[in-house]
Amino acid sequence: MTTSIDKMTAHEAIAELNSGNVSSEELVTALLKKIESRDAEIGAYISLDADAALQDARQADRARASGKSGRLLGVPVAVKDIINVNGQACNCASKILEGYISPYDATVIRMLRNEGAVFVGRTNMDEFAMGSSCENSAFKITRNPANTNCVPGGSSGGSAAAVAAGEAIVSLGSDTGGSIRQPAAFCGCIGLKPSYGRVSRYGLVAFASSLDQIGPIAKDVEDAALLLGIIAGHDPMDSSSVKVPVPDYTASLKPNLRGMTLGLPKEYFVDGMNSEVRDAVMRAVAQCENLGATISDVSLPHTEYAIATYYVIATAEASANLARFDGVRYGKRAEGSNDPVEMYYSTRAQGFGEEVKRRIILGTYVLSSGYYDAYYLSAQKVRTLMRRDFQSVFENCDALLAPVTPTAAFRIGEKANDPLQMYLADIFTATANLAGICGISVPCGNTSDELPIGMQVLGPAFKEESILQVAYAYEQEQKQVAKVASKQ
Ligand code: GLN
Repeated sequence: MTTSIDKMTAHEAIAELNSGNVSSEELVTALLKKIESRDAEIGAYISLDADAALQDARQADRARASGKSGRLLGVPVAVKDIINVNGQACNCASKILEGYISPYDATVIRMLRNEGAVFVGRTNMDEFAMGSSCENSAFKITRNPANTNCVPGGSSGGSAAAVAAGEAIVSLGSDTGGSIRQPAAFCGCIGLKPSYGRVSRYGLVAFASSLDQIGPIAKDVEDAALLLGIIAGHDPMDSSSVKVPVPDYTASLKPNLRGMTLGLPKEYFVDGMNSEVRDAVMRAVAQCENLGATISDVSLPHTEYAIATYYVIATAEASANLARFDGVRYGKRAEGSNDPVEMYYSTRAQGFGEEVKRRIILGTYVLSSGYYDAYYLSAQKVRTLMRRDFQSVFENCDALLAPVTPTAAFRIGEKANDPLQMYLADIFTATANLAGICGISVPCGNTSDELPIGMQVLGPAFKEESILQVAYAYEQEQKQVAKVASKQ
């Protein structure tokens, strides 16, 4: 291997595998060794499937030897614990799903499998994807590889920490209000949330069905493009997935931004935001300008309602979606109840964690008769206004530049007992889910404490190629700058 396993990207792995420098079995073995040595400290994985992964790796090696190819043939991929992989545990980091083994592959998994991907294990997350720090997992916390006293972000914190710690080449997360982009920003990775309907949700355990999307977390933009190209597309099993052709995302990556107009939404650069985050993002904006982009000030006036709107809609949908976890259909059932109703009560009381219960209660409340119009209906109306805000700025802009989060990673425990503070971590990310547009998080420097900072590139629905293009050109420029700096 010319690149060490912890730095390796998927496109480098494919090149090494194709040239015969390494076998998939060696790759998976090296990765498992890395996980063994590092994961006791990081806690990125909830469960590993080493034997099956090695078996699949050997099969990929045989397939390659017999002349078969695949865009990820023999490349290990880590998967968030909320996406079904046939034969693996899928617990959503919840006690209520302990013991549940998936009887089928999610569509994204089937598509990756068709290209030869190998599945090593399940990454940690906030229970049922509710949270921004991974502290809501019923099993363990995950630590940020950049500073193990800090959270990795959430809810896909395990997927981001695994990639950042070199315990995964690439991973899948899910994003309902920021859960791919925020942990990617906190850990210094690339995280892409596709437009609503771009990627099938079949086999993704539903949190808020009108907001959820699956997407890649990667070490570079090329890998994010590669993975998205595989998992995107219409799926008859998910009626909300849209029949729009899937472009060749990798082929459209160019190292400059000439001819592009990028908007700077003023509502995303608010008073009181962390100055290191603001400065890092503004430096990145200047670099995008140097790369040929025209920068234009824009306004998204309904941004201030994003958190309130998101937490009404997301909790309403969650309260309906989580009704199925009742001790009968899936996972665990509480012992010792004498009648079915008592059994439902005690299963749900024992099985769900505090944050999940808080959201089910909140969601049930906003949907209850008498309050429905005041909360849920109003939130839906504001959602429409926010979508229109984006539509109108995208008439003149190819993409928008903004921070991913108002601060870099916070310390473990810092916000754990303050749900409102935790909810505010989603302030710049939840808007994209509400509007159904796409967004990517790309590292743009570090704080003085060496914590990664992320720039967010937001694009119109089904224009993932635009945000990948911006992220790619910026990333390549950063690499050049780093190269020159290291020679000096
Ligand atoms: N942090 C947000 C929440 O707690 C977003 C979660 C997500 O995107 N799954 O709901």
